[in-house]
Amino acid sequence: MLKINNLHASVEGKSILKGINLEVKAGEVHAIMGPNGSGKSTLASVIAGKEEYEVTEGNILLHEEDIDELAAEERAHKGVFLSFQYPVEIPGVSVTNFIKTAINANRKAKGLEDMPANEMLKLIREKAELLEMDRKFLSRSLNEGFSGGEKKRNEIFQMAMLDPKLAILDETDSGLDIDALRIVANGVNKLKSKDNAVIVITHYQRLLDHIVPDYVHVLYNGRIVKTGDASLAHELEEKGYDWIKEEVNA
Ligand code: ADP
Ligand code: MG
Ligand code: MG
Repeated sequence: MLKINNLHASVEGKSILKGINLEVKAGEVHAIMGPNGSGKSTLASVIAGKEEYEVTEGNILLHEEDIDELAAEERAHKGVFLSFQYPVEIPGVSVTNFIKTAINANRKAKGLEDMPANEMLKLIREKAELLEMDRKFLSRSLNEGFSGGEKKRNEIFQMAMLDPKLAILDETDSGLDIDALRIVANGVNKLKSKDNAVIVITHYQRLLDHIVPDYVHVLYNGRIVKTGDASLAHELEEKGYDWIKEEVNA
């Protein structure tokens, strides 16, 4: 699904990613962990195609197609989803209307007509039920006055509706509370299938108690310096990152 080869990227002329190699196959869940400032969010942004980030070497293949030259929107249409891509508050635009617009834009890019209203409604109901969402939530204004948990709820709902091939969830530093953690974990577990793949970026091992990753990668100073299975996350929880830094710098 995704193959990243020797990826170097910089932002504002500063080199951040310094040779990332990563292969993600359909059906897999990969966790990316690492100390603050190691380049985790940058990697997510580069895969999603955010403009500020410049690829200076290497490439990113999605289904064997080089996507480096594609705009973020085009990548989204090819099935790449990055959480918090739409963090804006839009007063007067409901959670539902926003996602309808996104879905129809997606279809338009593929030369398809708008999704018929009844089909859209059915899809919304189905996903809302799957994610145990309150109907009232769907008519609220996008992100307006949302709690941390509600923002996560909306993000996971967007992911469910857009049904991405590759979902990248960057759980940043925003101190996920237990509620938000549970929403993200349940959502991912319900939505993952043999045809899609998930990259979860986190520095909280506890999220990985609920989403069990097939691989855990440690990103440090712009490189993946260690890869293991779920037990690596536990080891990091216990020992922190210093031993990794020592290994790298030895
Ligand atoms: P992480 O997510 O692992 O904490 P980031 O990818 O956010 O790390 O940041 C890695 C480095 O890149 C940091 O030094 C950060 O200051 C820098 N950086 C990231 N994005 C930008 C940006 N848009 N402008 C300037 N510097 C950036
Ligand atoms: Mg980050
Ligand atoms: Mg580019």
